[in-house]
Amino acid sequence: VKKLVLILGDQLDINSPILQHIDPKADRLLMVESANEAQHVWSHKARIALFLSAMRHFAQQLEGLGLPLLYLKQSSQTIAECLRDQITSGQFNHLVCVEPGEWRLKKAIEDLATELNITLEMQEDAHFYCSRQEFSQWVANKKELRLEYFYRLMRKTHGILVDPEGNPEGGQWNFDKDNRKPFPKKGPGLIPAPEWFAPDEITQEVIAEVEERYPDHPGSLAHFQWPVTRSQALQALEGFVEYRLATFGVHEDAMWTDTPFGWHSLLSSSLNLKLLNPREVIAAVLVAWKKQDLDLATVEGFIRQILGWREFVRGMYYLDMPQMAEDNFYDHHNALPAWYWTGKTKMRCMQESIGQTLEYGYAHHIQRLMVTGNFALLAEILPKAVCDWYLAIYVDAIEWVELPNTAGMALFASGGRFTSKPYIASGAYIKRMSNYCGSCQYKQDVRFGEGACPITNLYWNFLIKHRAQFDASPRTRLMTVNLSKISAEDQQAIQAHAQTILANLDSL
Ligand code: FAD
Repeated sequence: VKKLVLILGDQLDINSPILQHIDPKADRLLMVESANEAQHVWSHKARIALFLSAMRHFAQQLEGLGLPLLYLKQSSQTIAECLRDQITSGQFNHLVCVEPGEWRLKKAIEDLATELNITLEMQEDAHFYCSRQEFSQWVANKKELRLEYFYRLMRKTHGILVDPEGNPEGGQWNFDKDNRKPFPKKGPGLIPAPEWFAPDEITQEVIAEVEERYPDHPGSLAHFQWPVTRSQALQALEGFVEYRLATFGVHEDAMWTDTPFGWHSLLSSSLNLKLLNPREVIAAVLVAWKKQDLDLATVEGFIRQILGWREFVRGMYYLDMPQMAEDNFYDHHNALPAWYWTGKTKMRCMQESIGQTLEYGYAHHIQRLMVTGNFALLAEILPKAVCDWYLAIYVDAIEWVELPNTAGMALFASGGRFTSKPYIASGAYIKRMSNYCGSCQYKQDVRFGEGACPITNLYWNFLIKHRAQFDASPRTRLMTVNLSKISAEDQQAIQAHAQTILANLDSL
């Protein structure tokens, strides 16, 4: 057997099973920088730089271990095309890889192996807690696929925050309601900075290359300081656990101008590149809980994101692809406003959330879900266009995690398949959770007419349009109760105003 082992750019796990038992005389490892991957969606410069820099650092590590690596820099071919060339020219009869986090690539590799009639050993990604088979088993007898029940199963299966009888620590599974507080009126105060890493020589070279090759791509590289190696990722984890975790929970949903990171961990890119293992993140958090006597609400809230949401959306992605990418429950077809790529809109909340996204390739969950995602849903934008934006613009974006969050959660494009309700909110929510509205030209509490907040207007318009759906569920009925308090005349005015907004999204 002569093995070709493909290492993808988001599979930089030095402990990966595919790196074991390599025969340096016969086998070869292959890493490809494919321009196609950078251009498949119009990627943020920081996202491209992160992948390239992390890959080059990883390659250096593999070479240091004496492993037989072929590293193709800036290839103009797709990954599948490079594979084809290598397999045929090197006469490999066995292709090994870890299952890609993108359905399109997985299919391309499978098709290639069939066509070339070679053995394909596509291993399950051992990085995750929940295997594909376990997820399918869990799904099999469920009427409703909901995070909460999956998360409880994960807690019990892995003995995390449960007592020996399997009961939840602190008597409840979920402390979410303790974790939704805005920052105090006078602002968030001093938040310790996240661990940042000044670009080393490799990263500087990558930055220069990205600027040269992709000059018109969105986003800035001026602040590029993301972890690009495993040791930096471990340092970032340590810094988060030591200085930021204690306050993570309570203000998890809060937003504030010039506060792009809040108390969040900023670990998603390291986790998704597999520089960090979720098990070591959770272990570090559990140690800190005891050592620092942290609030259970914070610890549970953080663990739920990783053991719950991250594993759940991955399970859903493989279960529902390729259909998930086509889902469009509300049949929305509007174009994505051009200002999603520039931040040049008069809406302060969008300006801030998109502005920091362009600066850093980062926004936290509530900015993604309740600001940019909420607007995209209310503005009836085609899900595919919104998903392409999210995949392009965040440093942590990889399709297995981006798509279910965007299509499934933010846009309700898969209907109620794995979320219980559409996540929509008016300007009142954004005002409560941030200081954005205070300096906005639009008036958050005006529903139509001059100065009306587009989000507030479109929120009520959405409720009027989909009233029957919202009335039908006890989880959303309260929203339409408030709608009943608005006169028929005002409801008509809301709808008329919304028509104008929807026809002129680019000018908001
Ligand atoms: P923290 O708030 O500190 O959370 C800790 C960790 O929990 C994160 O690092 C992440 O690994 C995990 N996590 C939290 N929420 C989720 C979630 N909903 N799904 C999966 N993992 C989660 N996350 C990505 O990693 N990549 C994406 O492309 C992505 N796209 C998103 C698109 C939309 C529309 C929405 C609403 C959310 C998206 N998320 C995505 C989830 C979440 O917003 C990010 O994981 C988080 O903001 C990353 O920042 P952090 O590391 O500071 O997270």
